[in-house]
Amino acid sequence: MNRFAKPLLASAALCAATLLPARAEIDVARLKTAIEVLVEGDYPKLDALYKDIHAHPEIAFQEEKTAAKLAAEMRALGFDVTEKVGKTGLVAIYKNGDGPTIMVRTELDALPMEEKTGLAYASHDKTSWNGRETFVAHSCGHDIHMASWVGTAKTLVGLKDQWQGTLMFIAQPAEETGSGAKAMLADGLFTRFKKPDFAFALHDGAFAYGTINYRVGIGSSNSDSLFVRFRGRGGHGAAPQATIDPVMIAARFIVDVQSVISREKDPTEFGVVSIGAIHGGTAENIIPDEVLVLGTIRTFKPEVRAKMLTGIERTAKAVAAMSDAPAPDIKITEGAKAVMNDPGVVATAEKVLKAAFGDKLRPSPPGTPSEDFSEFINAGVPSMFFNIGVYEPERVAAARDGSGPQLPPNHSPLFAPVPKPTIETGVVAMTLAVLSTFDQHARGK
Ligand SMILES: [Zn+2]
Ligand SMILES: [Zn+2]
Repeated sequence: MNRFAKPLLASAALCAATLLPARAEIDVARLKTAIEVLVEGDYPKLDALYKDIHAHPEIAFQEEKTAAKLAAEMRALGFDVTEKVGKTGLVAIYKNGDGPTIMVRTELDALPMEEKTGLAYASHDKTSWNGRETFVAHSCGHDIHMASWVGTAKTLVGLKDQWQGTLMFIAQPAEETGSGAKAMLADGLFTRFKKPDFAFALHDGAFAYGTINYRVGIGSSNSDSLFVRFRGRGGHGAAPQATIDPVMIAARFIVDVQSVISREKDPTEFGVVSIGAIHGGTAENIIPDEVLVLGTIRTFKPEVRAKMLTGIERTAKAVAAMSDAPAPDIKITEGAKAVMNDPGVVATAEKVLKAAFGDKLRPSPPGTPSEDFSEFINAGVPSMFFNIGVYEPERVAAARDGSGPQLPPNHSPLFAPVPKPTIETGVVAMTLAVLSTFDQHARGK
């Protein structure tokens, strides 16, 4: 704990002690104020941590310095920290009497892209990625999550006379590649450490700060990667009759595969196929031997996913057969599965968050991006994943009614959360969600 925060935490804990007599209903308004006092007092440190991590992002499974920064913060708070879980991940445990174990997860990784925000603390860092040099940027906002995660840990430690149980704070590598959660589980996350009873995670997004979006059930999409190699027979562009043209085959596939979405899938169900890369050929007058097509497949429901995968494979084989080409190589790699929010965990947190945030807590439809937090849920941990906004409410309103520019979303080189209100909302919401679950358990409900 830093010398700056200690008296504030101690005094707020004291003041909060009178707010929550054992087994009584939580006085959310007063508790929220107590949490806000803690966060406000500690914010300069969180701001410095956020800007440091933002300026020096690290890509999937390279997050060594980032993890070390978080490990130091958590050790200073009295957590028992284990590093290098799942390569670069860390696990921080804080025991505080009998009660459930609640996991709070942040991601550690940034994206292989150039930041163009022009912010004073913008990243200019580069790294090596898949054999190529690339810029690195926290354009998904995982740095906001890390600052909120540390802030939540500080606040919960400051309020430790208000709950009993174990905090299991984990920092996960490689969310963007969909492989970090799996790596932590494979490295014994739920066997070397106790499997948590409940889990929470948050993600920021391009909507108004101070607001929280949540949902019961499906929260994000299943993600599959598509790789198709169409084989033809290369030759002269002026004599196509002597060739089998894989460019033409790939072009047909790219168009026809969308009929799987529009004609085969139930139109009321979510499903997307996007082709993100085509590799083939070298010159204008050479018909190449082969063309590679790479894409992403997103769905919510397993039955829709199965139907789409079948249709995509059939289409790829059919367009090749149409040109009398050899069967294509088709590889579909399963990525993250859909996040399923637990109705019980959401109902408990919802009651408290509603009392704290009023109409700024909003039920929302599932997001179409994917998220490997689902790995922990599928390992049997009832969980809640929610979203927090990052932009000034006025700018969001202007973008919505067309009087202002559209705001850059996650993964845009211009994505630029407003740090203070975003991080503070993250800390307050996550702290209340965790406290509500401890409280529910303590009251035996
Ligand atoms: Zn992302
Ligand atoms: Zn993200």
